[in-house]
Amino acid sequence: MTSIWWIRRDLRLTDNLALHSALQTGSVIPTFVVDPAFESQSTRRKNFLYAGLNELDKELRKRNSYLVILKGKPVEALRKLFDETKSEAIYAEEDFTPYARKRDAFIKKILPLTLIHGQAVHHPKQVLKQDGRPYTVYTPYSKVWKVQYKKINLIPAPEKIDTPAGIKSESIPNFESSKHFPAGELEAQTRLEEFLHKKIYSYANDRNRMDVDGTSSLSPYLRFGMLGLRQTVSAAKQAEAQARSAEAKRNAEIWLNELIWREFYIQILYHFPHVAKESFNPALKNIPWRNNVEEFEKWKDGKTGVPIVDAAMRQLKSIGWMHNRARMIVASFLVKDLLIDWRWGEAWFMENLLDGDLAANNGGWQWTAGTGTDAAPYFRIFNPVLQSVKFDPHGDYIRKWIPELKDVNEKEIHTPWEYEIKISGYPEQPIVDREIVKERTLKAYNISKEKVSV
Ligand code: FAD
Repeated sequence: MTSIWWIRRDLRLTDNLALHSALQTGSVIPTFVVDPAFESQSTRRKNFLYAGLNELDKELRKRNSYLVILKGKPVEALRKLFDETKSEAIYAEEDFTPYARKRDAFIKKILPLTLIHGQAVHHPKQVLKQDGRPYTVYTPYSKVWKVQYKKINLIPAPEKIDTPAGIKSESIPNFESSKHFPAGELEAQTRLEEFLHKKIYSYANDRNRMDVDGTSSLSPYLRFGMLGLRQTVSAAKQAEAQARSAEAKRNAEIWLNELIWREFYIQILYHFPHVAKESFNPALKNIPWRNNVEEFEKWKDGKTGVPIVDAAMRQLKSIGWMHNRARMIVASFLVKDLLIDWRWGEAWFMENLLDGDLAANNGGWQWTAGTGTDAAPYFRIFNPVLQSVKFDPHGDYIRKWIPELKDVNEKEIHTPWEYEIKISGYPEQPIVDREIVKERTLKAYNISKEKVSV
């Protein structure tokens, strides 16, 4: 019997439960459908995806198989392939975005599509409160997540996949490779190994330092399933068990907690799909944003005059990735300091991030805006200068991404305007006076709250 393995966000052979299920039936046709619905999506992410497909095809060819690329609406493309190859089943890893759920529910009515859970450790419907409702706060969610965790038996990459010869395939769309994030499962596995070898045991402190390479940089690979979350969690658990000191153990657990954040936001989007369009907290739906377009452009270009914000925005533009602490700083600056709608920032991130992911990105933006689940109180406003001094103490991160400031010393680099430093091409003053920020923001948020309570 022949089955189609429909690849979506699981570009890997290791611990791929959908592929594994398909293999139980006989020969397998690994298939990717280039869906026109994604045409307008980030060019950057499409490059990464196509480069990843190219790597996957190489791995398949080592195993007596190859990738079949189809173009068009998935239901039509799959039906044609299904009929032409006389396949009997289609297997795919279950995806939880609103678009994927709708698409798959429709296709299931027409074709024998079996969805296999494998994108996360726990299915979004699994970790629930005692009354059956979903968690909306991270800490209790993560506690129950941990109680329910059972050792994962990872499925190794198959040595051989028999794919019928001669199936017509389109070519993989043209792509440009990223120097900083080469696509593919092999690269992802190498990064994971390197991180586990050393960085994980100093993660608790290093993860917040923007000038230190202290995190795993695995997010683009997890986004496309070039690395499975199950394998990553399993590795974190193992690192925790093998830690030689209580401190090392704590570090590994903190990294595990970050991976659980990923699952937390997956289940938030699953149970509360409205978050994709509006604030999770209904009381903060009607904030009267200023939405100044000129200021927004300056934020996007890294020209706000606040060096830490500009460095981060330029990192994003340059390599399609940004440090987590930096994401929080620039998001807070956009929403709270400039009073620009968090959805504008969310969209800019989605256009530029290689790891751009609806659940995690939306969760991160709503968390920072204070409109989401488990949010920091909305009246708490990050001070970007204090963040800069604390998490980039020598200014190395700023100098790396803003070459204009390369000769400014450690003391002056966080607030050059206070020292009247004039540098050609760099703003002399920040675009916003921080003195007015707090009052202006609180007023706007309170207007929304009052509107709801009327
Ligand atoms: P590590 O520190 O090594 O963490 C390991 C993994 O855990 C990450 O790869 C990621 O998959 C997961 N993770 C870590 N922190 C979070 C978090 N807060 N929420 C969800 N998952 C997390 N992450 C994305 O993957 N895609 C996004 O589009 C995205 N947008 C964000 C937007 C904002 C405004 C903020 C504040 C955060 C966003 N994050 C997003 C979360 C986080 O910034 C990145 O996952 C992290 O910086 C990736 O770097 P890393 O792989 O080195 O992470």
